[in-house]
Amino acid sequence: MIAPRLQIDLAKIHHNAHTLVSLLGRRGISVSGVTKTFLGLPDIAAELLAAGVSGLADSRIENIQTMRRGAVKAHMTLIRSPMISQAALVVGHADTSLNTELDVISELSKAAGAIGRTHGVLLMVELGDLREGIMPVDLERVVGRTLRFPNIAFKGIGTNLACRSGVVPDSANMGELSKLANALDATFGPIVSMVSGGNSSNLNWVLGGADTGRINNLRLGESILLGCETLHRQPIEGLHTDAFTLVAEVIESGPKPTKPWGEIAENAFGAVVTPVDSGTICQAILALGQMDTDPDGLTPPPGIRILGSSSDHLVVDCGRECLPTGTEITFQLNYSAVARAMTSPFVTKQIEPRKEPEMQSMERAV
Ligand SMILES: *Cc1c(COP(=O)(O)O)cnc(C)c1O
Repeated sequence: MIAPRLQIDLAKIHHNAHTLVSLLGRRGISVSGVTKTFLGLPDIAAELLAAGVSGLADSRIENIQTMRRGAVKAHMTLIRSPMISQAALVVGHADTSLNTELDVISELSKAAGAIGRTHGVLLMVELGDLREGIMPVDLERVVGRTLRFPNIAFKGIGTNLACRSGVVPDSANMGELSKLANALDATFGPIVSMVSGGNSSNLNWVLGGADTGRINNLRLGESILLGCETLHRQPIEGLHTDAFTLVAEVIESGPKPTKPWGEIAENAFGAVVTPVDSGTICQAILALGQMDTDPDGLTPPPGIRILGSSSDHLVVDCGRECLPTGTEITFQLNYSAVARAMTSPFVTKQIEPRKEPEMQSMERAV
C-alpha cells in the first residue's frame, strides 16, 4: 500500500455532520460545512451535503472552484474577506462572501455587474478576538453603504471568535451580536436574515442550553471532521474522533542508544535538544516528516512513542520489540496535523467511501 497516506472515513464524517446538524437544527441553527481543511475535495463536500448541511463555506476561492468543477451543488460562501485582485473570481464562483471592507464590496459590486450576477454579502463584526470584523460602532454606517451597492445582496452579520486570541463565545458577546441584528432591523427594516454566530468554538455555549437569541447559523469545520469542540479540544459526545488517520512506513529499525554523542548544537529546525539517557531502545524511523504533517499533532498507537522529527523522518521508540522495516503504523491527528497532511503533495489521500447499509449486508452475505 502507498505510504504515507491519510485515510479519510466518509461514514464517520457523515455521522458527525448529521449529528451536529440535528442537534443545532432543534435550536433553529443551520450549519455551513467548512471545507477548507480538506481543500474542498468534492467527495467529502458531497458527504457533508448528504448529511444535511445547509451550504458549504471555504476560506479559499480555489477550493470553491475545486468543488464547482467537481459538480458539488450547494450555496458556497467564501469565509475570508476577498482579495480585491480576486473580485472577479469570487463573484464568479462564490454565492456569498464574508466582508469587512467597503472598498472590497465596491469591487465585488462592479465584478458582479460585469457578469450579470448578484453577490451575497455577510458583514463580519469584531467582538473581541481581534481578527476580522467591523467595530460595532461602525456597523450601522457600513450596512447603510452596503445596501446602496448595485448587484450586492446584504445577507446579514456574523462574527468569528476563538481564532486569533482564543476569546470564548458566551452570552455577553453572542448577546451583543443579537442586539446588533435587532438594531439593524430597527433602523433599516427587516434586512438581517442570517446571524452567523461563529465556528466550532461556539458549540459549548450553544449546546450548553444558552438562549441563542438571533443566532441562526454556525460555520463548522473541525467539530465535524475531528469530533471535538475547539476551546479545550474535548471529544463531543456521540461523535467520531478518528475520521482521519495517517499511516506511515518503517524504513529503519533496530536497537539504538537514547543519548546522542558528540558536541550538541541546533538541530534541523533550530531547536537545541537536551540529551537524556534512558538506555537502549528499539528505535524505528518512519518515512514521514515535517514536510508531510505536523509531527506534534500526531498521537501514536499504544506502545509507540514519538521521539523526534525532521523534514522527512519521524523517529519513534517502539517499545520492547523492534518492528520490521515495511511495517505500517497508524496515527491519530489533530487539526494542525490534518491540515498539513492535506496540503502535502507527498501524502496520498485515501477516501474510504460510505457504504450504504444494504451494501454492507450484501457484502457480508457473499
Ligand atoms: C475556519 C473558519 C471557520 C471554521 O472553524 P472550525 O473551528 O474549523 O469550525 C469558521 N469561520 C471562519 C471565518 C473560518 O475561517
